[in-house]
Amino acid sequence: MHESFYPTVWMQATIALLSILLVVVIIMCAVARSKVRAQRAAMVKSPAAQLMIDIEAKLVIFANPRVCELLQLANNGKHWQFSDSAHFEQLLELLKSHQSSAKIEGVHWLVSFPQQTRVLLLYASLTAHNGREVWFINAYENAQGYSYLNRIEQEQKLFANVLNSIPEFIYFKDANERLLGCNQAWAGFHGLKPGELTGKKLGDFLTRNELERSQTYDDQVLAGEPCQHTEWFSAPDSRQILLQNNVYPLKNQQDEVTGVLNVSYDVTKWHELNRKLEHENQNRISSEKELGRQNNLIRTVFNSTPDPLGFIDDKGNFVGGNEPFAKMFGYTSDELLGKHLTEVLSEEQLEQHQLQNRQILEDGKPLRYEELVYLDDGHQIWYEVIKGPYFDDVSGERGIIFITRDVTERKATEQQLADAIMQLQELSFIDSLTQVANRRSFDEKLLQLWLTHRREGVELSLLLLDIDCFKQYNDNYGHQQGDEALRQVAKLISRSVKRGSDLVARYGGEEFAILLPNTGSEGAKQIAETVLNNMNQATIPHEFSDVSNFVSVSIGVASVIPQQGVDYGELVRVADLQLYRAKHQGKARYCSAGDSAIEDVKAAP
Ligand code: GH3
Ligand code: MG
Ligand code: MG
Repeated sequence: MHESFYPTVWMQATIALLSILLVVVIIMCAVARSKVRAQRAAMVKSPAAQLMIDIEAKLVIFANPRVCELLQLANNGKHWQFSDSAHFEQLLELLKSHQSSAKIEGVHWLVSFPQQTRVLLLYASLTAHNGREVWFINAYENAQGYSYLNRIEQEQKLFANVLNSIPEFIYFKDANERLLGCNQAWAGFHGLKPGELTGKKLGDFLTRNELERSQTYDDQVLAGEPCQHTEWFSAPDSRQILLQNNVYPLKNQQDEVTGVLNVSYDVTKWHELNRKLEHENQNRISSEKELGRQNNLIRTVFNSTPDPLGFIDDKGNFVGGNEPFAKMFGYTSDELLGKHLTEVLSEEQLEQHQLQNRQILEDGKPLRYEELVYLDDGHQIWYEVIKGPYFDDVSGERGIIFITRDVTERKATEQQLADAIMQLQELSFIDSLTQVANRRSFDEKLLQLWLTHRREGVELSLLLLDIDCFKQYNDNYGHQQGDEALRQVAKLISRSVKRGSDLVARYGGEEFAILLPNTGSEGAKQIAETVLNNMNQATIPHEFSDVSNFVSVSIGVASVIPQQGVDYGELVRVADLQLYRAKHQGKARYCSAGDSAIEDVKAAP
C-alpha cells in the first residue's frame, strides 16, 4: 500500500504542476495574442498608413487598410503583397539603408503607379514583434505631395535637359548592369530615345566584345576608383568611332557606391587630326632629310668641282663660293664670304661688273663672256664666265650666280687652229674672206704678166684701191660688219672688170688691187671710174666717214710697158703713190700717173 502510494502521489503532483504550467503558457499566449491583436486593431483604426515588414523573411506581416489603399497591397489570406513587387523592393532597399540607425524619421519615398506618383513621408522604427525584428512603418501622404512632386519633376526635367544638351555620351547603370539613365546623345548613338533604354541591360545594345570591354573597368570603379580608357566602337551606321570613356563611381546619399557613371567623348576627329599631324610631321621629317641629302650632294659638287662657282647677292656681297672661285679674286672661300665687290675688284672691273649685274637683274637673262685673269703667281688663265640671275623662293633673296670655266687650253687650241688656218690661207690662192685672189696669187700673177708684157712690149695697168675711213667703220659698226663691208666692196670691184684676164685681188687689210693686162692708162681710168660709180650706187651706209655718207674707196692708177732692168715692184710703187695722192686730195676719187713710161712715173712728185 505504502509502496503504491508514492508513485501515485508523485504522478498526481507532476500532473498538477504540468497543468499549472500549461495554464500559465496558455494565459501568456493569450495575453501576447491579445496584445498583437490589440496592436493590429489599433493599426487598423489608425488614420496613418501603417505596415510591418520582416526584412529577413521579406514579408509584409501586417498592413492596415489605409496603407493597402495608398500602396495597393492585397491580403492573400496569410500575408500582404504589393501589387507591384518593384515597390516592395524599393521599400526593402530603403529600410536596409537605415538598418544601422534602426529608425527613419521623415524620409520621402516616391512611389510610381501607372496613373500617378505618390509622395510618402516615412517614419519607421525597428522593433521586436513575435520574437522577430520587424520594421514598424508609418507612412503619411505628403500634404504638399503634388507641389513637391512637381518640383521634383521640374528638377528631373531640368536635369534631363542638361544631360541631353551635353554632346558627350553619358549613361549610368547599377551594379547589376541595369541602365538607370542616359542622355540623348548616348541613346541616339544606339538609334533609340533615352526613355526607351532605362531599366534595360547594357548587353542589349552593345556587342559582346564592346560589353566585355566596358565591364573590364567596372570592378575598379565599383570599388570607388574612377578610371579612363579609350576604345574603338562601331556605331549603328557601321562607322568606327574612337571613344574616350571616363568612368566614375555612382554614389548614394550615404556615399556608398551603387553603380557606374560613364561619360564618353568622341575623339575620332581629334585622333584623325593627330594622325594627320603625325603624318605631316613624318612627311616634313622625310622632306627635311631629302633636302639635307640634296644639300650635301650640292655642297659636295660645289666644293669638288675644279670650275669656279660663286654667288653674290643683289647688293654686291659675296654670299657663297667654292675655293677655285675665291682663288680668282686672291682669297680663300672663307675670307671671301661677306666681302663686297668694292673690296675685291679694281675700279675698272667694278664698274664693268656693276653694269653687267644691273642688266642681269633687270632682264633676268644670263650673260656669257670670256675673261683673261692674271693670278698672283703670274699665271694667266682664260675663263669662260656665265653670269645669271638667281632667286631663292624660300628666303626671297635675289642675286647673281657665277659659273666659270677655265678655257685656257681651249683658247690655246683655238689659237693653234687660227695659226694653222692662216698658214693654209697663205698657201692657197683665194682670200677666204672676200673670195677674190689673195696677195700670194696677186704677186705671182704680176710677175708673170710683167714678163709677158715686157716680152711683147704691151701696156700693163694696176689699180690699187683702199677703203676710205675704214678704221672708223670698224670702230663704230664692229669688226664683223667691217668684214661684211669688205665682202661687199670685193664684189663691187669684181663686177667692175669685164675681161676674163683681169685679176681682182685682196692686196691686204682693206686694200684691193686690180691687174689689167693689155690695158693702157685710158682703159685703166675707165675701170677706176666704173669702180667709183658702182661704189656710189651701192650706198653702203658709213655715217662716220669724213668724206661721204657711204662707204667709198680711193684708187691709185698706174699703167706701164714693162722695161728691161726694171722691177715689177715699180708698178706697185707708182700705183701706191697715186693712191696716196687720191687720199691727199680728199679721198673717194682716183689719181693716175697718165700714159707715161715708167721713167716718167718715177719722175712724178
Ligand atoms: P684712210 O681713209 O686713210 O684709208 O683711213 P682708214 O681708216 O681706212 O685707214 P687705216 O689704214 O688707218 O685703217 C685701216 C683699217 O682697216 C684698219 C683695220 O681696222 C681695217 N682692216 C684691215 N683689215 C681688215 C679686215 O680684214 N677686216 C676688217 N673688218 N677690217 C680690217
Ligand atoms: Mg689702208
Ligand atoms: Mg683705208
